[in-house]
Amino acid sequence: MSSKNQMIFLEAPLYGGLEEHIVSRGHTCRYCYGEGGFGGDPRLGEVWTPCPVCKGSGKMDAEVTIKWKASEKVKEKKERERK
Ligand SMILES: [Zn+2]
Repeated sequence: MSSKNQMIFLEAPLYGGLEEHIVSRGHTCRYCYGEGGFGGDPRLGEVWTPCPVCKGSGKMDAEVTIKWKASEKVKEKKERERK
């Protein structure tokens, strides 16, 4: 089965102190395999039940927040070296 894969390449921000938000849309729901729900064949008298995970869309969006901060560990080491 095909799937959508994306990678995030981290690169420190030029001006520091940033929070980045990345949205990756359209990933196939793994709970319903992209079908959006279960059952629903009227010939069998089934009732369509929307997927509780993707709420019937068959797709999931990922929201990733990256918080950048100064590295305290390296800062302490550099301060010790200067003394
Ligand atoms: Zn689903």
